[in-house]
Amino acid sequence: MTNSDREFSDLKLERKECPKCGAVWMNGQHRWRTGNAGNELDLAGLVCNQYGDETCINPKKGEEGGQTWEERFEKIMGDFSDLHKKMTEEYE
Ligand SMILES: [Zn+2]
Repeated sequence: MTNSDREFSDLKLERKECPKCGAVWMNGQHRWRTGNAGNELDLAGLVCNQYGDETCINPKKGEEGGQTWEERFEKIMGDFSDLHKKMTEEYE
């Protein structure tokens, strides 16, 4: 990628926000609120399939196979001891 390509892609940065669930797409790439690259299928499983309606702009809304809160909860609980350790270290 050359510098001029980079400037061009910055110039046409396009931000779309779902009016229903507040999810954000930057240049067509879903991003979590943290700014990390998102996953439309996970978003659908976590939010859109449960709370979305016809105003939801997630193209994967209604598709199965993404993360669910149950899976995420298990992952969070699995990560929690590590996270807690990390946070404790940061705030010490
Ligand atoms: Zn949505």
